[in-house]
Amino acid sequence: MTTDVQQLMTRLSGHQYIDGAWRASAGRRSAIVDPATDEQIAEYAHATAEEIDAAVAAANAAQRVWWAMSALDRAAALHEVAAKLLELSPETGECLTREMGKPYRESNWEGGASASAFRYYAELARHDQGRIAGPAIVGQMHMTLKEPLGVIVSIVPFNFPVLLFGWQAAGALAAGNAIIVKPSELTSLTLVSVMRAFEHLPAGLVQVLTGGAEVGQALVGHERTHGVAFTGSVAAARAVAKTAAERFKPVLTEASGNDPFIVMPSAPLDAVARGATFAAFLNCGQVCTSAERFYVHTDIYDDFLDAFVEQTRALRIGSGLDAVDIGPLASSRERDRVERLVARAVEQGARVVTGGRRPTHLSKGAFYEPTILEVSHDHEIMHGECFGPIAPICRVADLDEAIRLANDSELGLGANIYTEVLEEAFRAIHEIESGIVWVNTPLNDNDAVPFGGRKLTGSGRELGAEGLDQFRRSKMVMIAPRAEPDPEWFPYPDSDSFGAQRG
Ligand code: NAD
Repeated sequence: MTTDVQQLMTRLSGHQYIDGAWRASAGRRSAIVDPATDEQIAEYAHATAEEIDAAVAAANAAQRVWWAMSALDRAAALHEVAAKLLELSPETGECLTREMGKPYRESNWEGGASASAFRYYAELARHDQGRIAGPAIVGQMHMTLKEPLGVIVSIVPFNFPVLLFGWQAAGALAAGNAIIVKPSELTSLTLVSVMRAFEHLPAGLVQVLTGGAEVGQALVGHERTHGVAFTGSVAAARAVAKTAAERFKPVLTEASGNDPFIVMPSAPLDAVARGATFAAFLNCGQVCTSAERFYVHTDIYDDFLDAFVEQTRALRIGSGLDAVDIGPLASSRERDRVERLVARAVEQGARVVTGGRRPTHLSKGAFYEPTILEVSHDHEIMHGECFGPIAPICRVADLDEAIRLANDSELGLGANIYTEVLEEAFRAIHEIESGIVWVNTPLNDNDAVPFGGRKLTGSGRELGAEGLDQFRRSKMVMIAPRAEPDPEWFPYPDSDSFGAQRG
């Protein structure tokens, strides 16, 4: 028996969302494969040049309508988006699980988390639209006016498509922009279907164009788009940034992470083992802020490893639509990549403590067992992003060594430390080179606090007031109360000439 969502997916297969309507695309099609069953479930289309031009034209027209509305009306419309995202969340969640495999609890959570960002920005955006400076000229008013950039191109990955698009769209729309999203090839229909939450907005304000990198590039390079919000890998971020630079478009870059997870002796064993398991294996390890490198103090190392292994072996793996903790990877290609990473680590001397293979009870699907590897810091696996269910762990002598190794990375998104010693927590907060530090509370976020990284993870911030300004430009405005001649104008008095001044 097919569900309502399966029927919806069939109806939306190969569709774009342009100018307020779902349209069967004229572009070529690619298969959408359920990674839990290996079966083709629908298709996504590659947007054509005409579809891209039509969407960009509609976005520009809609943006003018949107910006002409009062801030209060825009806020009300964004609250309505939030309510609809929440209402649609179970359906969007089912669609997402069918497309990329994550457990339904996680995919259903995304709609609510995304709604929360819309509620936050709906109010924040009407709080201020710039500031007034102390005047440099008596009696005048000198101000910084904040304006929208225009049309934002959003490019998002497969791992949290509803949440990450939501973060970008909430900030961009609240700031007065239109937005066109190019979803990952692996989660195209999820975003096409979630457009039901945006139908009440001016047609063209929010649109989806599916396809591969070439669709993203065409949008970023288009002369009538004005800003870019990119989330994905470093390689794709570089390609996007290069294209945007041709037209000096501002780019928000949220790229890969390789987050360290430091465990100190004061950490309570049960809490840290469960926290580590969640941080390493949430969404099958496909989280930009997954714990990817464990540095564990030698005094607690053996006990921690035993507890971590016990928690990991207890995880239930299977279809994200069943009662499980871990689904498949998002595609068989991703699973094969993870297999190669583990094989290479073993070749370099890593020991597989648990996992390291496909689960024997599942004959189909892109499944891989949650894997703990004992490694040394110089193994390749510690120096790139795994983006899969792999937890490499190594022993450190003290906090100095842990922080030094944590900072030995080209990436700088998040970092975790488990400790109940305040001084150690303070050192980690101040000394780790990352955009986020979590002390005893892995992977959490807050709409009101900016999220982002440094080094090759990127630049710019989502969420918080900083996330709103990412999508606004400032305009210098000076107002004199009357149109009077300025004493600084011509003719200059002879007394100011060079000769007169030299005497
Ligand atoms: P990806 O880079 O392969 O794809 C991301 C998006 O970019 C997709 O929509 C893809 O089609 C598009 N894309 C790829 N190449 C492009 C190009 N040359 N020009 C324009 N668009 C292009 O990433 P993925 O595999 O979907 O997602 C995983 C990556 O995303 C990981 O590296 C992860 O760390 C990162 N990520 C980062 C954050 C963050 O906030 N920093 C959050 C989530 C995921």
